[in-house]
Amino acid sequence: MITIALSKGRIFKETLPLLKAADIVPVDDPETSRKLILDTNHDDIKLLIIRATDVPTYVQFGAADIGVAGKDVLLEHGGEGLYEPVDLKIARCKLMTAGLVDARPVNGRLRVATKFTNVAKHYFESRGEQVEVIKLYGSMELGPIVGLADLIVDVVDTGNTLKANGLKPVDHIADISSRLVVNKAAMKMKHAQISRIIQQIEEAV
Ligand code: AMP
Repeated sequence: MITIALSKGRIFKETLPLLKAADIVPVDDPETSRKLILDTNHDDIKLLIIRATDVPTYVQFGAADIGVAGKDVLLEHGGEGLYEPVDLKIARCKLMTAGLVDARPVNGRLRVATKFTNVAKHYFESRGEQVEVIKLYGSMELGPIVGLADLIVDVVDTGNTLKANGLKPVDHIADISSRLVVNKAAMKMKHAQISRIIQQIEEAV
């Protein structure tokens, strides 16, 4: 049995053609089905439909053999117990800091609101800047507007969301795209089947 962990939405849609290239086709559509485990055209291959931020955890602990996760999610998770063999080059964006267009100089310690708290801590540490990191779960753009934070760390694609909220990108932290991740033990135990899937997906990228 091979289980592949995916999140709904953009990653699922953009991963489908890559799975198809490895002759893996889901039987149900996760956008309409309430099932969390989807059957495929192979009896021994299942898809787990989970939250994007949970994908590295499922694969790390071997609850899924393979997963598709954004590099932003992998940087935040730390990538422990995972191989990251293929850059799928889908769902591309940038991880950036952003602040108010008309930001005033900050007295004292900079406050940074983000759901990427580990990434933010490492980033500001690497620059020798002492900041206070505030954990949020969404709508980070609101932070600077209401005075919760001076900066946010978030993924930016077109920059339209920042602009619509009076924010501007400040510093580039990392280029982001989705990656194939594989459980290290599964890679050994199910080598033939997993390496065939990796190779076919890699050729399709
Ligand atoms: P933007 O095109 O910059 O206005 O992006 C809109 C929102 O979509 C951003 O605030 C992000 O939270 C989200 N977003 C854009 N691209 C991605 C991506 N590749 N992965 C995850 N979230 C994204």
